[in-house]
Amino acid sequence: MIESPHYTAEHEIFRTNVRRFIERECLPHRKAWQAECRPPHALWEKAGAAGLLCTKMSPEYGGADGDLYHCMIIIEEQTRACFNELAFYLHSDIIAPYIELYGTPSQRQRYLPKMATGEYTAAIAMTEPSGGSDLQAMRTRAVKAGDHYLLTGQKTFISNAQTADFILVAAKTDVDAGARGVSLFIVDVREAEGFALGRNLRKIGCKVQDTSELFFDNVHVPAENLLGGAEGRGFYHLMQRLPEERLIMAMSAVVNMEAAADEAVAYAKDRRVFDKRLIEHQAARFELAEAKTVTTVARAYLERCIDLFVENQFDAEAGAMAKWWTTEKCCEVIDQCLQLFGGYGYMKETPIARRWMDARLGRIAGGTNEIMKDLIGRSL
Ligand SMILES: Cc1cc2nc3c(=O)[nH]c(=O)nc-3n(C[C@H](O)[C@H](O)[C@H](O)COP(=O)(O)OP(=O)(O)OC[C@H]3O[C@@H](n4cnc5c(N)ncnc54)[C@H](O)[C@@H]3O)c2cc1C
Repeated sequence: MIESPHYTAEHEIFRTNVRRFIERECLPHRKAWQAECRPPHALWEKAGAAGLLCTKMSPEYGGADGDLYHCMIIIEEQTRACFNELAFYLHSDIIAPYIELYGTPSQRQRYLPKMATGEYTAAIAMTEPSGGSDLQAMRTRAVKAGDHYLLTGQKTFISNAQTADFILVAAKTDVDAGARGVSLFIVDVREAEGFALGRNLRKIGCKVQDTSELFFDNVHVPAENLLGGAEGRGFYHLMQRLPEERLIMAMSAVVNMEAAADEAVAYAKDRRVFDKRLIEHQAARFELAEAKTVTTVARAYLERCIDLFVENQFDAEAGAMAKWWTTEKCCEVIDQCLQLFGGYGYMKETPIARRWMDARLGRIAGGTNEIMKDLIGRSL
């Protein structure tokens, strides 16, 4: 793997902690968690105690006041161990910032410290059975009734919901107002009457990560749980946060394709076919040369995206470009590398096969790659 030039000594200490955590607390349990299609809630508490959660959050709420590189290091260490099948970043870098940036002071005090320790785990629910790409067409409704809202609708494909203590739910508070009619609610699912967790869906990859259906039948949500206390801001908040989510997905894609290319080079140097090492066959060498070139270009592009992000210049189009291109290239490179492993590449226990299965999600989640291109196209 090529490492970013931006890491400090403190980042490297953090890396050692993360590596140890993954080796001790995750890898020995991988098979059991895969069988259950979910990690235990206790994992989040252990991750919090080890300082792995909410690294970017302000210390005022229990965070570590870190930066995007802490998130990158967690992704790099997960990738090194081929343990990309659980998105630690979803809790820490995607959901917590909604509350930190847009929540009321009491919402921040109530949820953020517990997210930092892992006492609370969280999910975010936008997608519905009738569609995820066209968010404005969502059917889940929240109707004001005095000091609370009544939430009714369904969500699907929701990551982390099996262990979540609360879920950030997108719902329509005004069905005639288009994007301005969408609001976000913090739903304390453990105490919400009318809420039901549906199936934990079986997936082709990311097996440790749970992915669930959710049902809301007149769920009583206190008005104080409307994110930020004002209706109609939900779509705006989602659009504000999606570029960073897409950058994180690009980080994961680039690191993953680098790891796949490195593993394929190592294998091709070792494997003998027709009395020579695989890498000595020009056809194989060309494949590896292509993979190495694409990953090098992708890394350079990613570093540029991170610089833009740090300079506050990383907008919606930049996020869409980074996400579609890197996730697409990631799948191409991993597929090319898997081929070099021959039959071993098709065996579930090999890291390259796991990378192949896990990486496919990148082209779908966080907004499909077709939607990314549509977004870019509309900005031209
Ligand atoms: C494992 C997993 C985890 C997920 N986690 C979450 C989560 O935590 N929270 C959450 O809210 N959602 C989550 N999702 C949902 C994900 O964001 C959606 O699946 C995605 O946005 C696509 O929505 P859809 O599945 O309804 O597909 P659809 O919107 O029905 O799209 C179907 C196809 O049509 C294409 N399409 C749609 N519109 C256009 C258009 N205008 N032009 C061209 N093509 C188009 C799409 O690209 C896609 O290929 C997750 C999904 C998966 C698979």
